[in-house]
Amino acid sequence: MKILLATTNRYKVQEIKEIIPDVDFCSISDFTDHWDVEETGATFEENSFLKAKTAAHHFGIVSIADDSGLEIPILDNFPGVQSARFLEGHSFEDKMKAVLERMSPFSKPEQRIAKFRTVATYYDPLTGQWFYAEGVVEGIIADQIAGANGFGYDPIFIPKGFEQTFGELSDFVKNNFSHRSRAFQTLFERIKSEVEP
Ligand code: IMP
Repeated sequence: MKILLATTNRYKVQEIKEIIPDVDFCSISDFTDHWDVEETGATFEENSFLKAKTAAHHFGIVSIADDSGLEIPILDNFPGVQSARFLEGHSFEDKMKAVLERMSPFSKPEQRIAKFRTVATYYDPLTGQWFYAEGVVEGIIADQIAGANGFGYDPIFIPKGFEQTFGELSDFVKNNFSHRSRAFQTLFERIKSEVEP
């Protein structure tokens, strides 16, 4: 079965292909360069569902979408669902600097706790069958930007058990236990058990 990854983010596509190597994926970039679903939902669940359903009906193929972001409890889970849109039009370096600035009053490790969360949704446009799975990775916000691997907020996030940021760790290490990896692995277990071959 061919499955559409409802994203134009090539880092995500590469990550997902590495996480689930035995599935025949295509991505929106294989069809068009112009794709943007307005993320009007208030939660990762709503946005992930919206993106999967919209792509599935538009392209007429089983689709999977994820919505992810960084949540910092001491900042009321900011940037959360706003992770992509926060400081829209600015570089990720600017966004990371702004997050570090907001975190500057908080120097104790327990105050710098954060997590990346992904909700991945499966949607079949023929049957309307859908479900989603969640993945979380816990860690802390680093004192400064470090590393150039990955994307988004990776260079300011140190996963639990490590001393380096996701920006410094290799893709191989990140993909082994990342929020996206956990969400997609759980989603594919459900696909294998609940979807007719
Ligand atoms: P999206 O809406 O799922 O594409 O993700 C929203 C935003 O969350 C992205 O633009 C990134 O800023 C951030 N994000 C999601 N996943 C990651 C990740 O694995 N590393 C770093 N940032 C991420």
